[in-house]
Amino acid sequence: MDPQLERYSRQMRFGGILEKGQRKLLESKVTLCGCGALGTVLANHLVRAGVGHVRIVDRDFIETHNLQRQVLFDEKDVADNIPKAEAAARKLRLVNSQVNIEGIVTDIDRTNIEELCRDADLILDGTDNFEIRYLINDVAVKLNKPWVYGGSIGSHGQTMTILPGKTPCLRCVFEAAPNPGEAGTCETAGVLAPIVSIISSIQATEAFKILTGQADRINRELIYLDVWENITRRIKIAPLLGKVDCPCCQRKRFEWLEGEHGSQTTSLCGRNAVQVSHRMPSKLNFDEMASHLKQMGGDVSFNKFLLKFNAEGHEFTVFPDGRAIIKGTNEIDKARVLYAKYIGH
Ligand SMILES: [Zn+2]
Repeated sequence: MDPQLERYSRQMRFGGILEKGQRKLLESKVTLCGCGALGTVLANHLVRAGVGHVRIVDRDFIETHNLQRQVLFDEKDVADNIPKAEAAARKLRLVNSQVNIEGIVTDIDRTNIEELCRDADLILDGTDNFEIRYLINDVAVKLNKPWVYGGSIGSHGQTMTILPGKTPCLRCVFEAAPNPGEAGTCETAGVLAPIVSIISSIQATEAFKILTGQADRINRELIYLDVWENITRRIKIAPLLGKVDCPCCQRKRFEWLEGEHGSQTTSLCGRNAVQVSHRMPSKLNFDEMASHLKQMGGDVSFNKFLLKFNAEGHEFTVFPDGRAIIKGTNEIDKARVLYAKYIGH
């Protein structure tokens, strides 16, 4: 056997993969949107399986309460303030040096999602956020790329696979995002790690089918599982294709991508925090910023990925591109005022 393939031998003995499937995986490129609970499991499966190029995109840093379910992170990552995308990439490069792993610390929005997905064979949803899912759906339909949706909360989760034009898209099935507060959040409803692993493992298997050229084998239903209540449901969604007047896949109106929905500054789902997106034309100079904030009496620490400080009872995390996550408020206007005061216009 080709020594490069030896590490995949057990997977290649499986009749659904074989050597030809493995070679296809090695030539594949995947964009993974979000590297939290679902995303860490997805990234882990992809890299160990030998998907040749894995682009991990995430906007967030790691907190201790993530460690219960976000399997690629540890206490040192929290102490060192390493953003999720970077921490995941570092860890997985130690697992498989044969594959190309890109860790990108950025907020996925309508201005950058096409560039992040254009060269990918497949897009995977590892987010916890409907706004980004609808953006992924728009870009996947526009660029005609498959994507796999997954979500979990409490003890339940769901997943579906979208092949644009061949299966219903996310908007065919869920016309609009749940209103804030309507769907539970990880903070209000909590989340059990096993349901996250199950849903993301189904997503990863769907990825293997698509990347090895076996899209005919994909799951064509909406799978819903509750591991605490012992519920398994398979909801038939295939008949929706072409039957509903879907703005996205039928009328090709990409409302999320074109900015008719969504916002730049968002209250972060269930976290008592607001993200202020204010892209700077050039990178922030953390050295200068830190000395300025210290003069204002702030408690500041930074590395090349992010700068943290506390002021007025709020914790600020600032990224080099000017984006900030401000903890201790859900009010967008208040966050904007704090941002203007400490970070800049
Ligand atoms: Zn649709």
